[in-house]
Amino acid sequence: MAGITPDPATDILGIVDVQPTFMPGGELPVQDGDAVVPVINRLLAGPFLHAFATQDWHPAGHSSFASSHPGKQPFETIEMPYGPQTLWPDHGIQGSPSAQLHKNLAQARIELVVRKGFHREIDSYSTFFENDRRTTTGLHGWLQARGMRRLFLAGLATDYCVAWSAEDAVKLGYAVFVIEDACRGIGLPAEGGTTIDAAKRRLTAAGVQFVTSAAFA
Ligand SMILES: [Zn+2]
Repeated sequence: MAGITPDPATDILGIVDVQPTFMPGGELPVQDGDAVVPVINRLLAGPFLHAFATQDWHPAGHSSFASSHPGKQPFETIEMPYGPQTLWPDHGIQGSPSAQLHKNLAQARIELVVRKGFHREIDSYSTFFENDRRTTTGLHGWLQARGMRRLFLAGLATDYCVAWSAEDAVKLGYAVFVIEDACRGIGLPAEGGTTIDAAKRRLTAAGVQFVTSAAFA
């Protein structure tokens, strides 16, 4: 899709987990994760007047950490009361330097920062709901109050926090776009390829549109 002009009354950029903990050198590095920062900054410098950001924000000993489950390794899956949960290396620790928004991210147009994953017993990939898909982060209420209808997502990681956010946003009635070159994924093995492939199939079927930042030129 070419030539998207965001309407400041209804369109907002959602910047998901652009934190050093998910970048090369961080605790849960996404390949090329830091490459999203300049792309997002270009979107914030022109096309989008409004943005919100999210931060993965876990207490030490969080239940999504493999280290909290004796004998388990990162990237194994366990069954939690709310469903299957992938286990991760310790990451996104509240207040730690690597959990801050990336220092080069242009923050002037970021009007809200949503922190998620702070309940010890439940993970939160989506910016809308924790992983039980019921406990709200409050973001929907804020977007509704602001009159936002179209959500453009960027950040980390394509196949987890971006994908789950996009899926929930569609269910909540937003028109949702994922800006592909402003995202990077983890890409664990999955049926028919990686979790990135699987997420893209699932989101496309749900009505999410995939675009690139060139569409906003
Ligand atoms: Zn996390």
